[in-house]
Amino acid sequence: MASAKYIFVTGGVTSSLGKGIIAASLGKLLQARGYRVTIQKFDPYINVDPGTLNPYEHGECYVTDDGAETDLDLGHYERFLNIPTSQDNNITTGRIYNNVITKERKGEYLGKTVQVVPHITDEIKRNMVLLAEKGAYDFIITEIGGCVGDIESLPFIEAVRQAKWDLGAENAIVVHLTLIPYLKAAKELKTKPTQHSVKQLLQEGVQPDILVCRSEHALPADIRKKLALFCNVEYSNVIEALDADTIYDVPILMRKEKLAERVLEKMNIKNPKEPNLDKWKEFLGKLKNPTDEISIGLVGKYVELPDAYKSIAEAFIHAGAVNECKVNLEWISSELLSNDNAEELLGHLDGVLVAPGFGERGIEGKISAIKFVRENKTPFFGICLGMQCAVIEFGRNVLDLPDACSTEINSDTKNPLIDLMEEQKKITNMGGTMRLGAFDCTIKKGTLAHEIYGDTTISERHRHRYEFNNSYLDKINGAGMLTSGKNALNDLVEIVEIPEHPFFIGTQFHPELKSTVLNPHPLFVNFVKASLDNKKE
Ligand code: GLN
Repeated sequence: MASAKYIFVTGGVTSSLGKGIIAASLGKLLQARGYRVTIQKFDPYINVDPGTLNPYEHGECYVTDDGAETDLDLGHYERFLNIPTSQDNNITTGRIYNNVITKERKGEYLGKTVQVVPHITDEIKRNMVLLAEKGAYDFIITEIGGCVGDIESLPFIEAVRQAKWDLGAENAIVVHLTLIPYLKAAKELKTKPTQHSVKQLLQEGVQPDILVCRSEHALPADIRKKLALFCNVEYSNVIEALDADTIYDVPILMRKEKLAERVLEKMNIKNPKEPNLDKWKEFLGKLKNPTDEISIGLVGKYVELPDAYKSIAEAFIHAGAVNECKVNLEWISSELLSNDNAEELLGHLDGVLVAPGFGERGIEGKISAIKFVRENKTPFFGICLGMQCAVIEFGRNVLDLPDACSTEINSDTKNPLIDLMEEQKKITNMGGTMRLGAFDCTIKKGTLAHEIYGDTTISERHRHRYEFNNSYLDKINGAGMLTSGKNALNDLVEIVEIPEHPFFIGTQFHPELKSTVLNPHPLFVNFVKASLDNKKE
């Protein structure tokens, strides 16, 4: 623990400035110099984790190998750094209080009044250093969610203040991300909101070491000087963060602004290695110079909010770059789809992905989309609920079981092709109780899945309560839908495919969660390739 250095990333002026991307980019730049880096996020809301939040509230729920349901920023950390994160990388106020209250009930504070300071702040600090106790890291970057000045983030900022004091100036620094708005009428960049947000931070006892300033326009020297003077940071520690074409440009932009150098200087690290960003730049080169383009339909029910499918969208960016192909995603609301308009809404697409989801809304549209792509030989990729819908569609239209359904949608169906997992039947609590995290899957040789993975044992991440009902296995296999991947321990069907079709695959797991810049997911890579081939035909 003593050897790790801590970088806290706070935000001011407004939310949605991209703290997660700045944290991930800084992490990338340090990692590119050979340092061992991890990133964690502290979220000030009361939910114990975001697993119980609607995607409309909070975007996608990102699942880690160890089955934590986390904030979508952890997806950025993994995609940028190519490292797995865990339960310890995302902590909420709810979790902190839950831990403290559980300890209190056990009598661990016996005789004492349990208070925000020191008990809650101590628990926050314990979680700040937990990663360093479990793994060997040179840098631990901690992103504090929300904005300084929010009531709910106060204990976290107080914990940062104390951590700086505990660890010393060279071992703990604060990078503060703010916004420099441009007033069109006055043709001026304005520093006042940043000054106020730094004042707020100072009022809470924290002097930021480095300012990262989001702006639509370059920051001239006089503005940087003003920011440095009024926010009490060195001139060179005012970093400009211009809007980028893609989030993957941000590490390069931060490299130009010397963000990592400033951090290393502040932490008194002499003569660091030069960063090696060759692979990253190679990826960017391919991403920015596609030789072809395709249109993929993403059929889901949260399409108004693309953040709900963040990891899927990013996995397509990675897979597109490998294929040197621009992937245009068309978001199609499953509620608008039916057998009658499927041709009109999907006919022009090169491939269709049916998204994960929960509940009844939009299910019939997903099934109509699958009927259309199965019959028209359009490349298809179904994830989790998307795979379950593919099985239902096959049951209804190939096995001729018109009432085939999932018991999630119709608990009385006579043909429950998808049914609640046995282990789920006695569960009543909603939080953290799905089948979560990484499990092994055994792949049959000679299948599309085998060709794609080039392996017979894989590990992928899950988040579901329902499963393929094995009592229909023979019928389904007999009619031409192959179950090409299974969990060897509990016989759960993990992958289905239709060998007769040019590319038709559904997975119970979420491959999108493991796609990174350096390791684009093979299922996405091959789906993009199949869609490109389909277009060329
Ligand atoms: N609702 C389905 C289940 O719980 C699918 C979940 C998902 O798509 N993540 O099994």
